[in-house]
Amino acid sequence: MTEYILPFLNDDIKKILSNLVVDKTNKDKFHINGKFMPVIETYVSKHEKTTVQLRKTNAVVYKACERSTTPFIRVNANCTLCSENCRYTFTIQKDPFEDKESTKEYTDALVSITNNHTHNGIVRLTGQLREETAQEIKHSFNGSSKKYQLSQIAKGLNPPSVQALRKCHSQYTQQQSVNISTNIVIQNDVNISVNEAKLNDNNQNQKTITNKYSSDFYTNIITVSETYRGCIIGNKINGYVQEVSTYPSLKLSIFTEKQFESINKTPEKNRILHFDATGSLVSIPQQYTKNLFNGGYKRILNYFMLLKNYNQSIVVDGKTKHKTAIVGEYITSQHDVLSISSFLTIFKDNYEKCYPNEILKFRLVCIDYSWASIHAVLKALNHETVIDSSIPWQYFSASIIG
Ligand SMILES: [Zn+2]
Repeated sequence: MTEYILPFLNDDIKKILSNLVVDKTNKDKFHINGKFMPVIETYVSKHEKTTVQLRKTNAVVYKACERSTTPFIRVNANCTLCSENCRYTFTIQKDPFEDKESTKEYTDALVSITNNHTHNGIVRLTGQLREETAQEIKHSFNGSSKKYQLSQIAKGLNPPSVQALRKCHSQYTQQQSVNISTNIVIQNDVNISVNEAKLNDNNQNQKTITNKYSSDFYTNIITVSETYRGCIIGNKINGYVQEVSTYPSLKLSIFTEKQFESINKTPEKNRILHFDATGSLVSIPQQYTKNLFNGGYKRILNYFMLLKNYNQSIVVDGKTKHKTAIVGEYITSQHDVLSISSFLTIFKDNYEKCYPNEILKFRLVCIDYSWASIHAVLKALNHETVIDSSIPWQYFSASIIG
């Protein structure tokens, strides 16, 4: 037998008591008629996280009790989905409406059940229940779906499978981790053109951030960066452009928390990182910088970090698997160890901010024969792994790896 206390809203108790018929032999005893069982079913299903279907066998109200042990309300019911007898008794001891001054909104009902449900009445984890379950797993059970399930079973409840709970929990944490919550609309000073980027078409009720862009490319960089910061919301870091430096050289460190997620989801021993610079993909016409300072910027290159999984696909967003994933980019006009290693340090520090229990490591870093890159990678990433010699670092020429 299982027992638990279920607080009912007094308004719902009123609904249950809306149709009473006096007993033929006892003027203080009333039979509860009408279709009130769905009200109780909703409470039970929500509490037990199980679909139940209850048929009343007896439901009575005692307006004046002869003995103090006689409850105010007693409802007996059977679960009709169960093949074997699964009997429910609901009792509310005192009349919640007796005290007219009372401001209490809830009244406790004692629920007793004779047997566990035999049917597969596992409630589908949808909507609000899904979110509540995931939150409970996360906050009360340290993310362990198994522990959550065991605790539900110990309470005599009929929880979903561990796999279903895990899925529910991981989807919830993924949704929590990075949310693209807005549409971005960037328009120029004089409204000549409107450049609209819809990052998430599924959600129609998004707010829209509108920012202006100007003919000044510095202002544009800040505007776009700020717009992303308002739209891409992570747990620890927001936005896409994480660092901007414009003098004396141009430096943009670009990555999102979502990209870190793909590194984190790839086992450390399988992480292969390709680090390379594209030839002049980004170019800012000299007229914009040369008049600001002597010589303007040197050639601007786009460095990218491409993650590969040693023997399988990388899980990037829970559903889709990709063979490779760009996990970070760096746009700069300064191509020396100082510049590249400062980007890698920012990248590493931010990753470790998102995953405080982990030190960012790769099994293999593939770079071309650029001494600046090799030294920068060693300087920024490897000083931790020199100690941990179990994960050897190897450097290959891009031509060998292909
Ligand atoms: Zn049942």
